[in-house]
Amino acid sequence: MTPRSAETSDVVVVGGGAAGLSLAHRLAETRAATVTVIEPPDGPLRPAERTWCYWHSDVDGLEEAVSASWSVLRVHGADGRPVTVEPDPFTYRMVRSTDFERMVHGRLAHSDGGHVLRATAQSVRNSPGGAEVRCTLPGGGPLTLRARRVFDSRPLTALPPARTQLLQHFRGWFVRTDTDRFDPTVADLMDFRVPQPAHGLAFGYVLPLTPSRALVEYTEFSRNTLNTEAYESALDRYCRDTLGLGPLTVEQTEQGVIPMTDARFPRHAGTAVFRIGTAGGATRPATGYTFSAVQRQSQAIAAALRDGHATVPAPHGWRALAMDAILLRALDTGRISGPDFFTNLFRRVPAERLLRFLDGTTSLREEWGIGLRTPVRAMLSTAAELPFLPRHARHSARNGVSHR
Ligand SMILES: Cc1cc2nc3c(=O)[nH]c(=O)nc-3n(C[C@H](O)[C@H](O)[C@H](O)COP(=O)(O)OP(=O)(O)OC[C@H]3O[C@@H](n4cnc5c(N)ncnc54)[C@H](O)[C@@H]3O)c2cc1C
Repeated sequence: MTPRSAETSDVVVVGGGAAGLSLAHRLAETRAATVTVIEPPDGPLRPAERTWCYWHSDVDGLEEAVSASWSVLRVHGADGRPVTVEPDPFTYRMVRSTDFERMVHGRLAHSDGGHVLRATAQSVRNSPGGAEVRCTLPGGGPLTLRARRVFDSRPLTALPPARTQLLQHFRGWFVRTDTDRFDPTVADLMDFRVPQPAHGLAFGYVLPLTPSRALVEYTEFSRNTLNTEAYESALDRYCRDTLGLGPLTVEQTEQGVIPMTDARFPRHAGTAVFRIGTAGGATRPATGYTFSAVQRQSQAIAAALRDGHATVPAPHGWRALAMDAILLRALDTGRISGPDFFTNLFRRVPAERLLRFLDGTTSLREEWGIGLRTPVRAMLSTAAELPFLPRHARHSARNGVSHR
């Protein structure tokens, strides 16, 4: 069959997940470029519904898709003592992927030159004056799209070599309890009262939606994932023994794996082809948070295109990546205790500063101050050995693996 060819738009975005939709949304909002988002039809390439949480201090244009927000955050140390903080002006926000998709698809439909194409991208390559994406349509027919720039968010098939590679892996239950058990104003970010694994760390995560409904997750940072039964039994124990929730109904589940790695993710995949999202290094290595970096990068790309540039800024600065590399290695070697490390950060660093640190917007002076509130000796000896460690390819790319 002869491929159909179309000069579609200024920009083609491959993949309509967090990064692809965020970029398309910002391009349409700023009218920086016409854009086509390629998203595969329902099937194995489309991730299951999921929730993305992030923090923000003011209006960011995503309000329509925010389903809950919290202005009080809590961390429970392994000793059971809670640290409760108010990160004012930040609020912690939850966006459900289906709401985000609905919002962005709606805005693209009402924009000039915004489209969503159901197709599977087979290859992305440079072409004269830009790049082209060869796709397969749901009926099996081929289609080639050409654009001045292509932003590719497809998960990588293999992670680049790294010195340290951990996985953030988790399963969550959307629960409904028989009686009111939750305080909907407080989000529990890390609850270290759960039994700790031999390697890495584990914590509970509770996002209350109403007094009787919440997303409750069991998460580990470690080298290997668990099987579903092991997550289920950890969640069951956490809900029953730690949270004392009593009888409950599990209404929905979510499960995922996020790479935590000090690998270097190239942003350029060709002269006019750029990688975005987790595939482009947007996942913060030490926390797995990706959504806010994706928002910042999308806004910067849209602003640059509007002004006639093709700049794609790095999703994270080198200082943030260097500090995360030290932390990952210190956790992986067991030189520091994960539960104590994270709990003490929340205890000793003002929450607003800590969240800015995770966003990469703290000053060098503030970062020194934060560094001094960590186990300095263990972190320094780890920093000293890092430059001499080789980078290995270990795990396959597990970005965004999510199951119901
Ligand atoms: C269950 C889960 C919960 C998470 N929660 C948070 C959170 O609370 N906060 C946070 O900051 N981060 C979170 N993350 C991490 C990160 O934000 C997500 O993984 C996020 O979805 C990454 O965005 P992305 O665009 O890089 O990848 P994705 O959202 O996975 O998007 C990739 C897209 O590419 C498409 N695609 C794949 N192959 C093709 C192809 N051949 N052709 C066309 N399209 C293709 C897929 O359909 C998909 O839509 C979570 C991750 C998971 C798995």
